[in-house]
Amino acid sequence: MKALVYNGPCDVRVQNMPDARIERHTDALVRITRTNICGSDLHMYEGRTDMKPGRILGHENVGEVIEVGRAVDGVKVGDMVSVPFNIGCGFCENCERGLCNYCLTTNPGLAGAAYGFADMGPYHGGQAELLRVPYADYNCLILPRDASEKQNDYVMLSDIFPTGFHATEMAQLCAGESVVIYGAGPVGLMAALSATVKGASLVMVVDTHKDRLALAEQIGAVAIDDSEGGGIERVMELTGGRGADCGCECVGYQCCNMRHEEVPNLTMNNLVHAVKFTGRIGCVGVFVPQDPNAKEKLQRRGQMAFDFGMFWFKGQKLGTGQCPVKAYNRYLSRLIEQEKVKPSWIVSHELPLEQAPEAYRNFDERKEGWTKITLKPNG
Ligand code: NAD
Ligand code: ZN
Repeated sequence: MKALVYNGPCDVRVQNMPDARIERHTDALVRITRTNICGSDLHMYEGRTDMKPGRILGHENVGEVIEVGRAVDGVKVGDMVSVPFNIGCGFCENCERGLCNYCLTTNPGLAGAAYGFADMGPYHGGQAELLRVPYADYNCLILPRDASEKQNDYVMLSDIFPTGFHATEMAQLCAGESVVIYGAGPVGLMAALSATVKGASLVMVVDTHKDRLALAEQIGAVAIDDSEGGGIERVMELTGGRGADCGCECVGYQCCNMRHEEVPNLTMNNLVHAVKFTGRIGCVGVFVPQDPNAKEKLQRRGQMAFDFGMFWFKGQKLGTGQCPVKAYNRYLSRLIEQEKVKPSWIVSHELPLEQAPEAYRNFDERKEGWTKITLKPNG
């Protein structure tokens, strides 16, 4: 099969790889019809993780089931399914509690597995014609009848729509509250969409890219361009000097200052200042335990100078980590089915798999107009 393979920093290629196949009775084989490039892929693409060459990338997958193992009951050949980026077993202590993001059996020795992801198990990704889905009954969400027409919407259910929603959940956002979201990338935009769905009275999105901020405005958020600084002051102005009721970090450890230099503590510290006393912060942007290729010594050890004193003084709360996609994807799919939301509004490019290397280059440069790329490995 054709697949997008990571060969080293900034080197991804479409190559022939052995066909994915059923390996255990609990697997399903999915013919991928849409697979997105994610901001998480960029940390790996840039060589800022210990991703090994030879792996197929891609964890935002949707497709048609073409074969199931003997022990698969619920999922049938012909079903269109959304595949959460987390791979859970369904029977470990964490999966039992709904924490499919920290499954204890699919990535032994650590917790939490994913397709085509550094440190999250040996699984190949879905930027390929075929994907093997372990524990298919647990990991596949069977999509409604309109799945084929709305693929660019449903493909967001495997990761970024639930992840944006999760950021607002960890921030304990309630109807009527205000929220400040750092990052207007795909995840930040999905957090803004989720905040709107939940009835936030004021959704503020901070970034430096005008094209991305314009997408936030399209769904009624207030865009805050921080390219000249002044973002926190603007949040204060808009909230009568109190700060936002809650905040979401949707950027991660490679966040940048105005000069485009990486300053890993910048967004978290900005949030501590922009969120009110007793406010809550949900951090879904990725931070890593080691970052050997970073410039700064602290950063290389996965550490940063966090304004913990101010955070404590303000009595704030913080939630972190990978999103448990299964906690939300079924209900978010119904919002798509009932046409309450259209997460595909952020899709800027729909491309054949062959163009994936070029798409990675442009998305990684945050080139204007390259907000979200969805690939079509099967034409
Ligand atoms: P992205 O890189 O396209 O978007 C990040 C955005 O942040 C960019 O638009 C960039 O301009 C902006 N930014 C950079 N520095 C900033 C700053 N100082 N202040 C404000 N904005 C700043 O990526 P994405 O796909 O939106 O993903 C965002 C993060 O979420 C990544 O770290 C990704 O790995 C992570 N992620 C986490 C989960 C999870 O389950 N926790 C799931 C998916 C993605
Ligand atoms: Zn992703």
